[in-house]
Amino acid sequence: MGDPRAQEGLGGALVFPFSEEEIVRYSRHIILQEVGGVGQRKLKDARVLVVGAGGLGSPAAFYLAAAGIGTLGIVDDDVVDLSNLQRQILHRTEDVGKPKVDSAHRALTALNPGVRVVTYRERLSAANVMDLIRDYDVIVDGVDNFSTRYLLNDACVMAGKPLVDAGILRWDGMLMTIRPGEGPCYRCVFPEPPPAGVIPSCQEAGVIGAIAGVMGTLQALEAIKLILGVGETLSGRLLLFDALEGRFRQVNAAQDPDCPVCGDHPTITELIEYDLACELPETGAAAGPTERKNPS
Ligand code: ZN
Repeated sequence: MGDPRAQEGLGGALVFPFSEEEIVRYSRHIILQEVGGVGQRKLKDARVLVVGAGGLGSPAAFYLAAAGIGTLGIVDDDVVDLSNLQRQILHRTEDVGKPKVDSAHRALTALNPGVRVVTYRERLSAANVMDLIRDYDVIVDGVDNFSTRYLLNDACVMAGKPLVDAGILRWDGMLMTIRPGEGPCYRCVFPEPPPAGVIPSCQEAGVIGAIAGVMGTLQALEAIKLILGVGETLSGRLLLFDALEGRFRQVNAAQDPDCPVCGDHPTITELIEYDLACELPETGAAAGPTERKNPS
């Protein structure tokens, strides 16, 4: 209790401003000690931006919509390709050739009409990233290339926005939550993108579809915990998942005082767009590019 938005009802009972339908819809949340009516209200008041309506963005956005996030922004400039459907579960066969933001909007609104889904059919760039993230509380990174991934990291550090980053490749996944000022950023662990040509081509690398579901769902969980202020986030911990072996492991990561973007003397003070000749499917090498630190 103690939520200033709670209204005092008849007989002194606290009445949260939820409809009967919402109380039923979110009943399994509301009975959780860590959520309750106050937490559900926090979710309803929250604004989450999912960048990329692909393999990671699909499950992340589905669970965030189902959870009752009040405003869900979706950024994607692409159209649905038949080869996306193996993992990008927001889209259906009949959506092939249509903008991903349109099928995302349809799917998320059908799941939960109470969520305001705001779509941006744009490619994230140095020119628009600050405007896109400004009005959101938490950013979920479901981008499919290193250039955008570094751009989003740098922008979130500069804007002080929490970012839930994840990457998948082949049978591997990784996840890290970035809380600017409180823990390491992506560059603290991977200072620079890999040189062009070092990473395999999209078609060569491949990815098992269901790993997008695992890692994207974990991203939704991280965002929900950040909004509720409960539990331990994966800030300062790199979570690695080997789907073939069925093993999760963690690598501790600390903020680097020499980090080019969040360190004591940052050398990156303006947003950079890398021109990388070869990009990876989904969000880059699961094990990451030039990993500098490898504590365990
Ligand atoms: Zn950093």
